[in-house]
Amino acid sequence: MSKTGEGEITISNKERADSPPDRYYWRQGRVFQSNDAGEDRPPESVGDLSPATLAMIHPGLLAAYWRERPENFNPEVTGPRNDIKTTHYLIASNDALWRAWSGQNYMQGPHEITYLWRRIHHDVMGSTYENIDYDGSTVRVRRAGAIVSTLTFADPKPIENFRTPKGDPKRDAAMVIPPEEFVFRDLGGGLFACELARANARVFVIEFEDHLLVYEGVYTTRNAETLAAAVRERFKKPVKFFAFSHIHGQYVGGARAWAHEGATILAPPSSAPLITEMLSAPFDLRPDAWSRGAREALIEPVGERWIHEDASSAVVIINDKESDHTDEYFVVYMPRTRTILTGDLLFYRPGKALTGRSLTLAKYIEKQGLEVERCITTWPLEWPGVKNEVTGEELRAAMKPK
Ligand SMILES: [Zn+2]
Repeated sequence: MSKTGEGEITISNKERADSPPDRYYWRQGRVFQSNDAGEDRPPESVGDLSPATLAMIHPGLLAAYWRERPENFNPEVTGPRNDIKTTHYLIASNDALWRAWSGQNYMQGPHEITYLWRRIHHDVMGSTYENIDYDGSTVRVRRAGAIVSTLTFADPKPIENFRTPKGDPKRDAAMVIPPEEFVFRDLGGGLFACELARANARVFVIEFEDHLLVYEGVYTTRNAETLAAAVRERFKKPVKFFAFSHIHGQYVGGARAWAHEGATILAPPSSAPLITEMLSAPFDLRPDAWSRGAREALIEPVGERWIHEDASSAVVIINDKESDHTDEYFVVYMPRTRTILTGDLLFYRPGKALTGRSLTLAKYIEKQGLEVERCITTWPLEWPGVKNEVTGEELRAAMKPK
């Protein structure tokens, strides 16, 4: 198991001790397989065990699934029967609907599930049922009451740097970025970029003498919490300010984590209500740090410009109301290194004239009288034919039609 809700499970058969074990990758409740060449392929059955059953076969994976997808576990209290109230869970997983028994106290948590049951329709034999019985490290699978498989599991091992086959990433409920992917590249003048291939985007950290500013989100509070830990570890200074280019989910996502860290959230006046709404949203299905704490949120509306500087760094956040993308938009200008952080406004193709919002941005920079020698995008990091770092000269030359 890894911290990102991924895991691997290998199943060997003592009747066929010479054959290699069947290897399954597991990510947030779904199972994947790849062939010897490392190519992804649809998961296959092992003997009588279907992929849907294999996804639930290990109590540790079941607990991890509960942690990753609590919304797929619906508690139902039934009874009392013989004076005992029983809690069932209905669990949706891999196109199968399971009913789980967790003993008498459903508040005790995922490790308490001892028994799973589901209905199966068999094309020839009609309706039947299957159940999984967890008994310590031994797990039994029965169909219509008869044991079809008995498995004995070794102790689970933690895994780092893990990658499951890609599968269909759209079916993952959220992108989870592992801690080791948050690496900070020093761009000079107090600016650091964290380049995230998985998100195809950057997040920026600006280092002042005794505090930091983080610019841009990473989709979810969970990723932002991982980033916050990485920032703490790397810089050993508090994040005093969080800003984001604009209200689209990728960029604003994570504001809750920064609020929890005690940062002041800088936002254009028209975006401030969204932040308030995000901070008061119910996160009971997937609790984050903000939902557990009782901190006061600090939101600072920035109508025009926000200037902040000390001996280490200088920053001007400019509220661009003519972005051609959203009504208000923060671009970040660093006068000492003549660097501008352009969010998702700049698509520069070498040798081609700028168009659309890219051209609008270049004109805006000119109109604001900003001396720019370097433009750095948030998104995209990789895009066919597009550069993610552009010199001032390149930008200016590309403003003229070819
Ligand atoms: Zn956008």
